[in-house]
Amino acid sequence: MATANYAFFDGKIVPIAEAKVSVMNHAFNYGTAVFGGLRGYWSDQEQQLFVFRPVDHFERLINSASLMRIHVPHTAEALRDILLELLRTEGFKENCYVRPIAYKSFEGIGVRLHDVSDALTIWAMPFGRYIQKEEGAHVCFSAWRRVDDNAIPARGKVSGAYANSALIKSDAVLSGYDEALVLNDDGHVSEASASNVFIIRKGVAITPPVNANVLEGITRRTIIQLLRDDLGIEVIERDIDRTEVYLADELFLCGTGVQIAAVTQVEHRLIGDGAMGEITVKLRDYYHEVVNGKVAKYRDWLTPVYVPEVVGD
Ligand code: PMP
Repeated sequence: MATANYAFFDGKIVPIAEAKVSVMNHAFNYGTAVFGGLRGYWSDQEQQLFVFRPVDHFERLINSASLMRIHVPHTAEALRDILLELLRTEGFKENCYVRPIAYKSFEGIGVRLHDVSDALTIWAMPFGRYIQKEEGAHVCFSAWRRVDDNAIPARGKVSGAYANSALIKSDAVLSGYDEALVLNDDGHVSEASASNVFIIRKGVAITPPVNANVLEGITRRTIIQLLRDDLGIEVIERDIDRTEVYLADELFLCGTGVQIAAVTQVEHRLIGDGAMGEITVKLRDYYHEVVNGKVAKYRDWLTPVYVPEVVGD
């Protein structure tokens, strides 16, 4: 079954059944945890599992943790090495998703961040698509607002803030949409429930800036670079009005889970001609080549999990 069989827990790799926290756990009670989400891509051709930008993901985890006064007793590089050991123990030969969580492990009463103990766990499981209709998702504008940086750090990946994402996602899905775009408190487009957003207007890519209450996505950063350096597309980071979305030629979501998902309809309005746009198609194909190790200049974004067997004579 597609599940995790092991976890890094309490400083070592243990069977998943042993990686348990108490109902008294502080993070369980108050949402005082931060997490990450990474993908591993399996290459049949190379018989290798590649983790995409692990150090960048772990640097963000450490930053999220510092916002929440959670001490992570490892460097980003050390966390990458722990992850590699975990994935080798799992032995996955398929695409997978990795979930590191740094959390307040204190057991007892008291909402606070100081004077409570910290812990860290990592688990991983086989994983396919996050949005089934990646080639043509139908979204709405959520009636919820994106969590504001002055309420819960928006650029931190804080577990408690995902109550906001869960409300956004379920209200969209239970109303018949695949996802929702969410506005920030000043009424501009922020992102989707768990992904960043780009629009294309007249050949230019536009995405909300990092101070629009977005999570500073690693896929967002990757895509900005691929668009500018490889596809020759101008990228502008600025606020996006709701009606610019309606007039966009193309619209797509991006994130580790979502990868690149074309949005072809917003409520009753078609985006462009209602099919995945030209730039989105090109970018999506290229992104998949990059994450699957087929673009030489971006191989250093990929960390191989398995040590190649040396064939002796
Ligand atoms: N925004 C939110 C709220 C998310 O949960 C995610 C997924 N981590 C993203 C954006 C995209 O971030 P990344 O590209 O780093 O996965």
